[in-house]
Amino acid sequence: MLKKKQETKKIRLRFPPSPTGPLHIGNARTILFNYLFAKQNNGETVLRIEDTDKERSKLEWVQNIIDELKWLGIDWSEGPDIDGKFGPYKQSQRTDIYKKYLEKLLSEKKAYYCNCTSEELEAKRQDQQSRGLAPKYDGKCRDKNNISGVIRFKIESKKVKFNDLIRGNVEFDSGLLGDIVIAKNIETPLYHFVVVVDDHEMQISHVIRGEDHLSNTPKHILLQESLGFNQPEYAHLPLLLNADKSKMSKRAGDVAVSDYHKAGYLSEALINFMALLGWNPGTEKEIFSMKELINEFSLEKVQKAGAVFNTQKLDHINGLYIREMPAPILTKLCLEYLPEDHKNFSQKTLEKIVEVSKTRMKKLSDITELTNLFFEDNLIYEKDLLKWKEMKDADIKEALLLCDKELSSAKKWDAKNLEKILFEASEKFNREKGYPVENKGYTLWPLRVALSGKKASPGPFEIAEILGKEKTLERIKQAL
Ligand code: GLU
Repeated sequence: MLKKKQETKKIRLRFPPSPTGPLHIGNARTILFNYLFAKQNNGETVLRIEDTDKERSKLEWVQNIIDELKWLGIDWSEGPDIDGKFGPYKQSQRTDIYKKYLEKLLSEKKAYYCNCTSEELEAKRQDQQSRGLAPKYDGKCRDKNNISGVIRFKIESKKVKFNDLIRGNVEFDSGLLGDIVIAKNIETPLYHFVVVVDDHEMQISHVIRGEDHLSNTPKHILLQESLGFNQPEYAHLPLLLNADKSKMSKRAGDVAVSDYHKAGYLSEALINFMALLGWNPGTEKEIFSMKELINEFSLEKVQKAGAVFNTQKLDHINGLYIREMPAPILTKLCLEYLPEDHKNFSQKTLEKIVEVSKTRMKKLSDITELTNLFFEDNLIYEKDLLKWKEMKDADIKEALLLCDKELSSAKKWDAKNLEKILFEASEKFNREKGYPVENKGYTLWPLRVALSGKKASPGPFEIAEILGKEKTLERIKQAL
């Protein structure tokens, strides 16, 4: 029994981004699912930079990927920044390893050099299409013993079967593929080949990736068979869809994790939201910490159908996280979105400003718009905004004069006391004017607009407390 346990294969997952752009939200979701699965199985994770496309890969994107994963709270056991026994972890540095396996396939006649020209291949492709056939390489160079050219892998026609952990049994007819190109030359292997070699060399036990790779898996399995490698377990995650059900990968707008980061989404909220893109806990529960996700996530509960990326849901979840955040931490996060002159305010005042504004925040960047009323010297607004219901100009003026009088003599300047004073004033005003006594809008609306210059804002007492007596009275005078 003990012996058996020791033989159990270690759970090892890979995060294989291509650094041809900033970390994509879809890739981040895939990496998160890999991470959760690895963590709950006490497994190891490998960050592997798939930079075989030399023209499109850039160092700045490698850095962006590392930075944003760290920001999300996702770490790895081995990678370009953490030594491990299966390195190097950038494919551009592994050419010798790939070369060895390419030579093996060539010498065993499982692969061959092909020097058909692109014109020739294109003509054949068009001919096949015009005859209603699926285009594939016709095998012209298979038995020619060329000594240079691109390297093609021989694919025989057969049924390739595998058990996908999400999709169940998958069967594929390899006869549709034709001999695929696995390297541009002996020094320049391509995606299908390097991924198979790396998954083997790095002892990857589970490949969890997007459904867009499902049709690649038969090619990878055939390569594994030819190279004598073990086959990892496969799980293909549902595609991410836009609200109109189009593919998210084709979306023009925000798709980089750094876009969401900059806009002021919290990493915990983004993780929570991404976890629900295709995974469903089977309960009503919607809010999950990373720790809870690690405990509760399961591949069995990942759906097959595409997962709609619903920005409103993200905003909703982010808003919940924002409101739960302790004031000092939230204030610190908001600072970079506040105007420069926030430095004139004490930490305590800033915390109050954030505190009274946070119910309206969907993301941190909203703080700019929501709180500019506190930082501006002169408010600019339409006179009509001061008007509540059918009020006449003269009444508005009277209401504001009353507020001015009552507030001028206020002793204790805090929201609670100001509320008490102004409620009494409102009642008095309504009785005098014959307005419904309970409707405080006749005084509080003009006052709130005088203090904020906005249609929507925190209540007048909270604003007044934060502005202080002098500024409050000054704003009422401005309105008058
Ligand atoms: N580098 C590939 C990508 O970004 C990963 C493919 C794989 O998971 O095999 O799509």
